[in-house]
This record gives sequence, C-alpha cells and structure tokens, in this order.
Amino acid sequence: MCCSLASARNLCDNARYMATDHIQRLRAAIRDVPDFPKPGILFKDITPILSDPELFHLAIDSFVDGARALGISKVVGIDARGFLFGAPVAYMLGVGFVPVRKKGKLPYRCESAAYQLEYGEAVVEMHVDALQAGERVVLIDDLLATGGTAAAAIKLIEKMGAQVAAVQFLIELEFLHGRKNLGATPICALLNF
Ligand code: AMP
Repeated sequence: MCCSLASARNLCDNARYMATDHIQRLRAAIRDVPDFPKPGILFKDITPILSDPELFHLAIDSFVDGARALGISKVVGIDARGFLFGAPVAYMLGVGFVPVRKKGKLPYRCESAAYQLEYGEAVVEMHVDALQAGERVVLIDDLLATGGTAAAAIKLIEKMGAQVAAVQFLIELEFLHGRKNLGATPICALLNF
C-alpha cells in the first residue's frame, strides 16, 4: 500500500523534517515584491531560488523526496511556474510530465475547467490524451493562494479519470485558506507564510 494516505502524510513529514537551515535558506531567498502585478498584492518571487544552483537543488529534492513513495506515473505542472519545478521533478522520478495551461495555449484538443478570479473567470486546459484513466499523479505549483487554480487543475485531472495522489507547493499563503478549496486531496507546502 505504498500509495495510501499514509504515504501522502510522509510527503508532508519529509518537508517538515527537511533540515531547518535548508528551509530557512529557501525562505530567505523568496523575494517579496509589493504591488505586483497590481496594487495590494505582495508577490512572492521565486526566481532567486531558480538562479541559485544549491537552492534549486534543495527545492527539487524536497519535491522528489515527497513524491517518490506515492506510486505516480505522471507529474502535472500548473502554468507557468509549476512547470519550472514540476518538469525537473518528473525527470528525477523517471515519470512523464503534463502541463496544465491557461486557455488557448495548448495546440491539440483540450479538456477545460473554469475557476473564479476576483473579477470574472479564468479557464485552464489539458490535452485530452495527456492522462489515462486510473493513472496516479502529483500536481505541482509554486504557490497556493486562494486555491482556485489548483482546484481547477484537480478537476481536469479527475475528468480524465486519473487520481491526484498529492498536491505539492513550494509556498503556501496560509492566511488565504486555499486548502479549503482542495477538498480531501493531500497537500504539502514546503514554506508557509
Ligand atoms: P490561487 O489560484 O489564488 O491559489 O493562485 C495561485 C496561482 O497564482 C499560482 O500559480 C501562483 O503562481 C500565482 N500567485 C497567486 N498569488 C501569488 C503571490 N502572492 N505571489 C506569487 N504568485 C502568486
């Protein structure tokens, strides 16, 4: 039973037990950019982690450690920063990578799922043949805010008949309570703000 909820808990335990100084170094590297992309938003810029080879390794290794025991056959990454973490994780695990993209970006036939933004609605898409029924996947994005984007991605994965073993984020903005939007899916975030 390597793919049980217990394994999903291990995913979070791995993050919890990641050396404290590693967590602190990753945390310290996140750059706060006020009022981007619009007034009132404090943007968490992860590019300093990407540009530092040691920190990038630490981040990818922690995703990989968390996902290794879950018996997945694909990593699904969310447009666009989820690709930066998800693709190396898939490579390291020796599984496939599937992009969830904003509407109109994928070339082939797509399944789509809508979600609410502060004003209006957005749509994410996945190729209709990206996942097979019964596949287990890990969903990866850089940051959990309200959870709308990840919830739409989960909807897409489940429309294909696949199962989300866990959702992994580098950062969780806890004060936005995005977890509430993700139902019973096991969730793990490395850094909480
Ligand atoms: P949400 O759907 O509200 O959970 O938003 C998550 C998506 O928006 C992720 O793909 C993030 O990359 C992006 N995002 C939302 N809020 C922020 C923030 N404060 N800083 C950086 N990225 C953010």
